[in-house]
Amino acid sequence: MDKIKTPGIFVLSSPSGGGKTTLVRYMQKKFPDVIYSVSTTTRPIRPGEKAGLDYNFITVRDFRKGIKEGTFAEWAVVHGNYYGTPVENIISVLRKGKSILLDLDVKGARNIKKLFPGANLIFITAASIKELRRRLLARGQDDIKIINRRLKNARRELKQMKYFDYLIINEDVDRAKKTLDGIYLAAESKVNKKYVNELAERIIAGTPSQSPPWKGGEDRGGRTPSQSPPWKGGEGGKRGNHPLNFSRLRREKNGKRRLWYGRN
Ligand code: 5GP
Repeated sequence: MDKIKTPGIFVLSSPSGGGKTTLVRYMQKKFPDVIYSVSTTTRPIRPGEKAGLDYNFITVRDFRKGIKEGTFAEWAVVHGNYYGTPVENIISVLRKGKSILLDLDVKGARNIKKLFPGANLIFITAASIKELRRRLLARGQDDIKIINRRLKNARRELKQMKYFDYLIINEDVDRAKKTLDGIYLAAESKVNKKYVNELAERIIAGTPSQSPPWKGGEDRGGRTPSQSPPWKGGEGGKRGNHPLNFSRLRREKNGKRRLWYGRN
């Protein structure tokens, strides 16, 4: 019997040296349905990075303009530079019924949780500050002053762990990957309360499908692809009825774009 998947939001955060990048790459490769959100930043591009792939690099002026216009679902200043997640990244992925993966600092993670209480916040760290230090030194990227600043930040970040749903102590990378697999599988198997009747009907009729009701497709027992999805007010649906409680963009009277995170 095919599974009926629920799309999810996965946020990975870690102090520098926690091994997050490896796990972000692993998740992208292992779960093609999980789309990585490319953030926007004002920090200079590093050698080997590709604009549009690693980050969208913009000026401080444009970033501040973006903040005013409500371009970002969340943003933060990290190590002296602006970083933000465009709202569009999240909306476009969830509308396709796919999951999204965000690599954020702890503040960004907390802000995403406020907007999407169902988001899966995953905190990754080495087993000790000593080990974080060893890894940062071995990386040979930064001088000792910067490393010490990052370790100071790490102490502060570790105290924010209480806001996260999962903790991965990244001592053994294979075990860390297995833990991520487990988190992903559990998240996609969450019962979607909104569609529970429809899902039950499908299972009773023996036509469960890989594609969830909000993704549709006639061949899969859902809507035809050309019809507008239920959360947009299409057939059988009430506007705003997306399985995840995501934002609606609203234009304020003064013409500024504001975000409205309505409850479904
Ligand atoms: P780096 O410049 O080393 O790629 O990233 C520095 C920090 O910024 C990392 O902790 C990363 O998780 C965080 N970061 C990257 N993109 C975003 C974003 O869009 N929002 C927030 N809040 N943090 C981000």
